Amino acid sequence: MTTPFVSGVDVRPYLLERVEDAAVVQLYADGFEELPLDQKTLIYHLYEAAIAGRDIYYDQRYAHNLQMRDVLEEILTHPDGIDEATLDQIRRYTKLFWINTGPHNNLTARKFILKCSRDDFAAAVKIAADQGGVFPLRDGETLDGMLERLMPLFFHLDVDPIVTNKTPGPGKDILQASANNLYSAVTMTDLHGFEERYGLNSRLVKQDGRLREQVYRIDGKYDRYIRRIVEHLSAAIPHATPAMAKALRALVRFYETGETADRIAYDVAWVQDRDSPVDTINGFVEVYMDPRGMKGSWEALVYYVNPHKTKDIRRLADAAQWFEDRMPWADQYKKQGVHGISANAIDVVIETGDSGPVTPVGINLPNDQNIRERYGSKSVSLSNVNEAYERSTSPEFRREFAWTAEEAERAEKWSSVASELTTNMHEVIGHGSGKISERLQGNPQTVLKEQYSALEESRADLVALYFLPDPKLVELGLVGAEDHKEIVQAEYEAYARNALVQLRRVREGTQIEEDHMRNRQMIVGWLMANSSAIEVRHREGKTYYAVVDVTAFQEAVGRLLADVQRIKAEGDYEAARQLFEKYGVHFDPALRDEIVARVDRLHMPSYTGFVQPRLQAVRDMLGNVTDVRISYPLDLTTQMLEYSGRIRTP
Ligand SMILES: [Zn+2]
Repeated sequence: MTTPFVSGVDVRPYLLERVEDAAVVQLYADGFEELPLDQKTLIYHLYEAAIAGRDIYYDQRYAHNLQMRDVLEEILTHPDGIDEATLDQIRRYTKLFWINTGPHNNLTARKFILKCSRDDFAAAVKIAADQGGVFPLRDGETLDGMLERLMPLFFHLDVDPIVTNKTPGPGKDILQASANNLYSAVTMTDLHGFEERYGLNSRLVKQDGRLREQVYRIDGKYDRYIRRIVEHLSAAIPHATPAMAKALRALVRFYETGETADRIAYDVAWVQDRDSPVDTINGFVEVYMDPRGMKGSWEALVYYVNPHKTKDIRRLADAAQWFEDRMPWADQYKKQGVHGISANAIDVVIETGDSGPVTPVGINLPNDQNIRERYGSKSVSLSNVNEAYERSTSPEFRREFAWTAEEAERAEKWSSVASELTTNMHEVIGHGSGKISERLQGNPQTVLKEQYSALEESRADLVALYFLPDPKLVELGLVGAEDHKEIVQAEYEAYARNALVQLRRVREGTQIEEDHMRNRQMIVGWLMANSSAIEVRHREGKTYYAVVDVTAFQEAVGRLLADVQRIKAEGDYEAARQLFEKYGVHFDPALRDEIVARVDRLHMPSYTGFVQPRLQAVRDMLGNVTDVRISYPLDLTTQMLEYSGRIRTP
């Protein structure tokens, strides 16, 4: 896609479809086309490595996953003659199956089932087989035999009901109660006195009364997939920077041996590569699926630094002293020699396994605490994922809480730009700013105690809100002069609305506990009590927070910020406590109930599965990559069937 923007507004499809409480959203990687060929080629090989390992996670998550997927995909690719209603149910179930990598919901860990009759399902399988569908039959097994064997997996809620069960109830075993495939016939009791050598990268199996570790490595468990991953990683190495090439070689070595010392060498090499424009995460990383929190789930991500967004971050960081000199607080709290904090904004090209189609929005690795302490960690924010989330938010959701149609339109048009800009300002010129009293010896936390986090988050938010209308942002090229006013208004309105909308997340009780929520509640509450910027309005039994005076909003933010900085700098615990007690912690449960009812009526999705960009290599007669093309499938089914090789990429 060459011209995705029409007069500055992105009109491409983001939300592709809804499948029950899941949203399906297209992810775009806009900067890819501008990358030099060498980086595109590097990304291409890493992308292939990401797809090559995809089925490892399917198998880790549930021992029957790959067979179940085969059955479903064979039906979907041989649909002629299958009853339309049955086919609809199978399609719906299969989409959920793909998004969640199997029949267990990724949020609740609980099983979901196919909602057609068993007879209709059996008929569909037979029709697909007649059309040439190839089903996963065991030696000597008939189609009926296979159906009998697999039916309970598709239709029975009590067969393998929970993928990860950390609290199965008294007397029950967490490994036995969990349906994942990280253990086979093992109980926690079996593990007493057992010395586990490959904690992160093995499956534990009990056979003939003996425990064995099946190590994930070449010539070990998942050999077939790991060999292909290693092939693609090896093809990538010549295109990588020296630091990244070192990390990739260490990763290949770890896949070959599976030894912990090699994993450590890889983690260290990866975290030390800080400047490469392209990076990947590929391996057994997060341990949430294991009820013991030990075994790594396989995942892969491939991404490049978003040069434009990272440039914005750097420009702000370079101007940090300019902002510091103009902070609305007393001179004794102004710092000299300020350096803005630098973080990388990245765009994801592909995420598979444990990180796709459902993806995180920020990542900080490695997990190994010893390595973090000695070598630090790498932190990335997934820019294009955040943007896709923002863009796919339904307009009704904004309309529901906006006082006027103009406000809803502004939100629609600017919320993505405005929230990214304020997030960057929050991180880069917010948290790093200000000087505290020497008395506190650089440690305000010890005196501000449980109030500290919410106070510090408020300070960073207020810095962003305070400088958002400043012409300096236009001078730095972060916003266009002609759009500036509208962006400021859109952000202030969104900030006020959020204080209402966030109440949906506290469905029990009448207190806010989470620090970011407290901070936002406090700021809006304080502004309503101490300025004329926001008015509480009612219409047809619904409550709205309407921003009526942008100038008063900024002026009041400045006053509050001066005080919040003083409280931090002097460690004034009592003032902090009163500020949050009065404005940030307590809320009216009747108002919360009203918000919950409004949100539920709109049927908001609980989670999102992403359709990833598609890469295709153009090769010369010798097989060398001469170009890499990016395109967007705009369809989950197409992408999933391409990944499993059932349909050809056009
Ligand atoms: Zn923060």
